[in-house]
Amino acid sequence: MGKKSIIVIGGGIGGLSAGIYAQMNGYDAIIFEKNDFTGGLAACWKRKNFLIDGGIHFITGFKPGCSLYNVFSEVGVQNLEYIDTEVYARFVDETSNRSIDVSTDLNKFQRDLNSLFPRDKKVIKQFIKGIKGMSKSDISDFGFRRPAELMKLTDWVKELWRVRKSLRWFVGKSLKSVREYVNQIHDPMLKEFLLYMFLPDVPIAFLYMILSFVVQGQMGLLKNGSSDFVSALEKRYLDLGGKIKYDSKVTEIIVEENKAVGIKLEDESQAKAEYIISACDGYMTIYSMLHGEYTDESIEERYKEWDIVRPLIVISYGIDMEFNKERWLTLYKSNENIKVGDEDDNLVTIRCFNYSPSFAPEGKTVVQVMFETNWEYWSELSENRVKYKKEKKQLASETLVWLEKRFPGISDNVEVSDVATPYTYWRYTLNNKASYMGFYPTTETIFKSVKKTLPGLDNFFMAGQWSLSTGGVLSSIYSGRHVVQLLCSKENKLFIAESS
Ligand SMILES: Cc1cc2nc3c(=O)[nH]c(=O)nc-3n(C[C@H](O)[C@H](O)[C@H](O)COP(=O)(O)OP(=O)(O)OC[C@H]3O[C@@H](n4cnc5c(N)ncnc54)[C@H](O)[C@@H]3O)c2cc1C
Repeated sequence: MGKKSIIVIGGGIGGLSAGIYAQMNGYDAIIFEKNDFTGGLAACWKRKNFLIDGGIHFITGFKPGCSLYNVFSEVGVQNLEYIDTEVYARFVDETSNRSIDVSTDLNKFQRDLNSLFPRDKKVIKQFIKGIKGMSKSDISDFGFRRPAELMKLTDWVKELWRVRKSLRWFVGKSLKSVREYVNQIHDPMLKEFLLYMFLPDVPIAFLYMILSFVVQGQMGLLKNGSSDFVSALEKRYLDLGGKIKYDSKVTEIIVEENKAVGIKLEDESQAKAEYIISACDGYMTIYSMLHGEYTDESIEERYKEWDIVRPLIVISYGIDMEFNKERWLTLYKSNENIKVGDEDDNLVTIRCFNYSPSFAPEGKTVVQVMFETNWEYWSELSENRVKYKKEKKQLASETLVWLEKRFPGISDNVEVSDVATPYTYWRYTLNNKASYMGFYPTTETIFKSVKKTLPGLDNFFMAGQWSLSTGGVLSSIYSGRHVVQLLCSKENKLFIAESS
């Protein structure tokens, strides 16, 4: 009997992962990707001699000793060059002229926090205890080993037992949002530091988890950028016999008798397969490609009520200067506002690519500034190309003025500048409102299970950042694994996962 065919829509991390596991399990997969390259949000591009990385900031679980590493070995990214960081990030409060480094040495981190914020020693002690508690178990793939649909009560009991030493840091008070948690803090800088270390409305348990990766040395940077990660996934998929059709935008999923049987492309051509996996935007898949015909209350609620992670505007400069003393990531709570779109912003995130020669020629550096911004503003503005381009240029020059005050000499040494707006991210990936992580992981939604199938529709699955309660690299990789686990279960086959 020949292999069963699968069409995967979208060649981002989620689609490539689905393709890899499909090939591993004896299916014949073909990815239809609208661009002439894979990777989606995990994108890099060249500007003169500089490599601009507009994607993944950090990778967790990249070393042996952590369960995630096994999955990395399966999808072929285990041997990439990752860079360890001694300091995860720096937070600078310009108003009080103080700064704090998030160190991988937890004792040092606690000492630094105590000396900066003596009135908050009690909260600091509790916060550090949370990080230590979370570090006691291998939580890197907690709840991810199998899709929620296949988890039986006994599986959950096993999972909970496995992470039992960290369990108390997942429940009770640890489910408070960071925004609520910081109410007990006296020092305004400490409040803001915790609020903006990740996202302000995630549960405090999320910060414990991220920082537990940091102290375990499991938080690394991609030496050769996001494109290296994507190339390794693509290679693994192609080596397993997978196929990719580039420049192939899917417009519709063909359904016959409530069974997904194929796709229609923008050029009106069609392709058929036994199974269809959509690994592109969830809203577009459900409400446009499938005309909203396969939904239920929980799907409607998710797409109407759940918040999504706001988009970013990313301004990159290729600079003829070295920045040896800068951290790779610094968050400035600035004492000056910068006008970004229709908002005044004073939270300036700077990513400094001084940790690898891959991004710039010797003696030069890529410095990137990021802001959260409004999708609606940039999407409307993009309709008037002249105004849109002018505003991009204006923002790049105002941001440079801000940088010049902190890094004198920078503006005379800029060789290239590049602005990627939410509209840019949308144009390349079609993600709803240019969200770069999908649903916002709030205290209400983070532990909700999201099904990877749609009610009433057979032979169809969803992968990628919209197919879980929140996105990111790991969610997307696991989503691809999950859909093939579901497929194997549907066909009563043993799921196979082999290391490369
Ligand atoms: C600046 C930035 C920093 C980030 N940092 C981190 C980080 O540090 N850690 C982390 O875990 N995550 C991070 N992320 C998030 C992470 O990169 C994404 O969540 C992840 O890459 C999403 O992958 P995906 O495959 O689900 O979706 P996408 O990357 O959006 O892939 C979807 C693919 O589908 C294609 N497509 C869309 N529509 C169609 C269609 N109609 N027909 C055919 N093809 C189509 C798109 O072209 C794209 O290739 C970051 C993202 C950004 C932008």
